[in-house]
Amino acid sequence: MATRTPFVGGNWKMHTTLEEGRALARSVVAGVDDIPDVEVAIFPPACYLLPIMGVLGKADSRVLLGAQNCYPESKGAFTGEISPVQVRDCGGRIVLVGHSERRHVLGESDAFIARKVRSVLAHDLTCLLCIGETLEQRERGETDAVNEHQLRTALAGLDASIADQLIIAYEPVWAIGTGRTASAGDAQQAQRAARRVVADLLGEEAAGMIRILYGGSVKASNAQELFSQEDIDGGLIGGASLVGEEFVRIVEAARP
Ligand code: PEP
Repeated sequence: MATRTPFVGGNWKMHTTLEEGRALARSVVAGVDDIPDVEVAIFPPACYLLPIMGVLGKADSRVLLGAQNCYPESKGAFTGEISPVQVRDCGGRIVLVGHSERRHVLGESDAFIARKVRSVLAHDLTCLLCIGETLEQRERGETDAVNEHQLRTALAGLDASIADQLIIAYEPVWAIGTGRTASAGDAQQAQRAARRVVADLLGEEAAGMIRILYGGSVKASNAQELFSQEDIDGGLIGGASLVGEEFVRIVEAARP
């Protein structure tokens, strides 16, 4: 069985002031110092990437810096957007792509998300691709089909060579920011099915290497049960990543 280094990411969304963000980053850095066996990243708002990089110290620091989004072009007339080149310039190493708030609140299409995946990979960044079904889709029994569709459209035409640049997060939309968490069994089932799709697209070896995270109201109190599932390799954390101590306890829960 493949051994995958667990990964925990903190998606700060549009939260924190600059000073709150700096303090939060400092508490994460200090808190995960003695947890070397879990990869950790934080995703501050874009305008704080550079100052937060100042707290982390360097781009290959213990806590990696990530961007919540980027536009799929290196530069150009795209007012309000940031490019993968600019993310890298700020010390960013990872970009979230296809987060449900981008899909459902900002209206990003599968085709646009697929362009972002390619652009992030082409700029030598790690792509953290988010997938997941809405409540209506779950109630219609479409969870696996929705995840499969999102994976197939986002990863079409790619091959195993990108395996070490890809992390997937299964985030049921109805569980994000709602306090409702998928049961560990349901999440495991969906993530096992997603891994089978990745195997079909990129091959068995790549599917064995790629981390698949769970996201959706993860807290220190439920993290361990979720992360102990065979196909759950850590988490993408929203609300609970805004409290340093809680986030560090979630990182601890991801230890192998
Ligand atoms: C997220 O934003 O990816 C997320 C999972 O949020 P929350 O943990 O708040 O549900």
